Amino acid sequence: MTALKNVWNFVRDILGFRRNSKYVRKYLNDVNIKSSIYMSFIIFAIEIWMIFRQINKYISPSWDTYESLGFTSRFDLFFSYTSLYFLFIVCSLAMFLFALFYIKHVKNRATFITKLVLGVICVLWIFLLIPEKITGTNINKVTTVLVYVSMPVFGVALIGDTLYQKIKDDNSYILSIVLIVCFSLVCLLFGIKVGYSDFAHIADIANPKFDIKKLKMITCFLTMIVFAACLLIFKPYISVLMLVSIFLLFYYFLDSYDGREFLDGDKINYITFLISLTAITISIYQQRVAEAKKDERLIHDAIYDHLINIHNVNYLSNEIIKTQRTNPNKINSHIYLFTNLANFRTINDQKGFDEGDRVLREIGNRFAISFPNDLVARQSDDHFIIFTKNENLDEKIKTLENTVKRAAGGLFVLLKVGGYIPKPNENPNKAIDKARYACGLIKKTPETNYLEYDDKLDLKFNKRQYIINHLDEAIEKGWIKAFYQPVVWSDNHELCGLEALARWIDPVYGFLSPADFIPVLEETRLIHKLDKAIIECVCNNLKKAIDNDRKVVPVSINFSRLDFELMDVPKTLNEAIAKYNIDMKYLHVEVTESALTNSQDKLNTTITDLKEIGYSIWLDDFGSGYSSLNVLKDFTFDVVKIDMKFLSNFDTNEKTKDIIDCIIQLANRLGMNTLTEGVETKEESEFLTKIGCGRLQGYLFGKPYCLEDLEAKINDGSLKISKKIL
Ligand code: C2E
Ligand code: MG
Ligand code: MG
Repeated sequence: MTALKNVWNFVRDILGFRRNSKYVRKYLNDVNIKSSIYMSFIIFAIEIWMIFRQINKYISPSWDTYESLGFTSRFDLFFSYTSLYFLFIVCSLAMFLFALFYIKHVKNRATFITKLVLGVICVLWIFLLIPEKITGTNINKVTTVLVYVSMPVFGVALIGDTLYQKIKDDNSYILSIVLIVCFSLVCLLFGIKVGYSDFAHIADIANPKFDIKKLKMITCFLTMIVFAACLLIFKPYISVLMLVSIFLLFYYFLDSYDGREFLDGDKINYITFLISLTAITISIYQQRVAEAKKDERLIHDAIYDHLINIHNVNYLSNEIIKTQRTNPNKINSHIYLFTNLANFRTINDQKGFDEGDRVLREIGNRFAISFPNDLVARQSDDHFIIFTKNENLDEKIKTLENTVKRAAGGLFVLLKVGGYIPKPNENPNKAIDKARYACGLIKKTPETNYLEYDDKLDLKFNKRQYIINHLDEAIEKGWIKAFYQPVVWSDNHELCGLEALARWIDPVYGFLSPADFIPVLEETRLIHKLDKAIIECVCNNLKKAIDNDRKVVPVSINFSRLDFELMDVPKTLNEAIAKYNIDMKYLHVEVTESALTNSQDKLNTTITDLKEIGYSIWLDDFGSGYSSLNVLKDFTFDVVKIDMKFLSNFDTNEKTKDIIDCIIQLANRLGMNTLTEGVETKEESEFLTKIGCGRLQGYLFGKPYCLEDLEAKINDGSLKISKKIL
């Protein structure tokens, strides 16, 4: 049974019974039309040559004696010998120009008029079919009539396509097939007519007009059938049907002709020719289909998202750019909507990536269905872009929300949408960035689901772009510097360390704080560049201080979670201390708690490696995350930093004190040292000292200072370096 099925599948493939996609069909038609450019040109050239040949051979010698030869006029003489060739000239010229304009996509006034005129001439050709011309055997008569009838059909198709193109701005698929079929038919009928006359001619040896040289003209039929077979490659079964029926018909004509025997050897050659030609057309078809499918796949991959069967951003941008060029009014009141599924990560975390992908697919497909007349594309991850008319926005956002709700089934997914109304001709990628920016700003505000990009956001956005574009320059030109905030012992308030905090002193924007640039650099995954620069700056400062015989204290450097993905932290630190010849005890690694609770294997193993190498690891902002206690369980830190910011209402809420107390005791018990940062009042400082917090940091003891100010503070004694620094 399966063997039978396999055979059937094979036959289906070979004969082309499977339905081709629209793209493949158009590809096949286009290649046929392309072939017809060469074919029609050849026919055109041969026919010109034929006319000259006729003039030379028949018309000139009879020019003065035309009457004796039975012609009514010289024109009659001329036309009798050349009419068929003129028919071919007109038909092949029309085909050539049509195919050329089609392939080159030329459509202007001149091509319109040319095609129309040629079409009309082809239609009018029917009037040249005068009964006296229809002479010879029955087969001669039928083929002559059919040739003359094919011409007006060709003409009507040409006129039809010309008008269709004027209205629809494209060629008609069907009419282009009619044209090429008619053209091939004209050629083929001519082949049959000439080939057959030749066969019949030899039987007529007694005729005074008998010419032995004409005997090889059977080749004309064979040439023309090769020609038609190569022009009409649509489906193998069509080629097989066409070739077999024409060959059989011609075979019948020859075999049933009484005057001459159709020899066995000729029959065998004839059938072999048919089989070879059929095999060639099938092979050409298979090859073309394979090429078309490859092209189709490449085009599909270039414009569709790889996960969801909707367009990608490239396609969306290109379509918008095209419309901006061709019909800007169509999109002048449109808006870009950029969507983000705020808590989508939890679906992946809880249900696995397969389920996550399924939900994304469902959401993408439903978005596309909900906005059938708009451009919908997936940018990446859980981000979609919809380019739609700027009206009924509330309703549209509701639709998006409902779509997400339905697609996510019982899972809770929160939709955030950023909107941007573009300026005329604004680059789509820039516009999408702005919508995305607006969307990003409401990521963490549960009560807002839509934010539109406006002038206020524009200032912020430009600053952000500036930061991204100028990071390298800022590092290179030293606009980014480490500022140092003192860390003191709680018992004597003497300086025992410094925290390096990045500052960007910009020629355009002036002083930029980390709040301006750190989130941007993290989002764009550029943060490691900044941190490398800070390491370099700190080591350089330390080295200079040591070389100048100044007393130095350890500096703690802040690392972002992403640093552990984007760079080799131990290698960077090792290289820096080797380059500046600094002891590793002068550098502390500060990692925030939230970085560790998002547990990444890479980060965890790197922390362990760093500890093993000998670096001191400090846990920053303890208490700010959700699973602080777990972090303490999994790692042993040298110092745990507690930020007063996260323990609000120190003065008014007695519980705050209890909580800090407990944290300090807990850390001490686990063998870790403690530091409280953000200490602003004497009262806080005294309390922390009393409960056993070892180190303190905050405005009470000093702000983050630039190197010069820090050195001045140390020099004037307002900051006293402790003897016990490590
Ligand atoms: P952080 O590591 O927790 O740094 C402490 C922040 O608290 C600093 O803000 C500091 O200026 C501020 N601060 C210090 N004492 C007080 C005080 O008494 N009261 C108040 N209200 N604030 C105080 P800054 O310099 O703006 O840095 C903010 C955050 O940016 C840092 O928090 C750190 O997470 C990050 N950051 C700073 N520099 C770098 C860096 O070079 N690399 C990385 N990856 N992150 C950095
Ligand atoms: Mg810090
Ligand atoms: Mg901190």
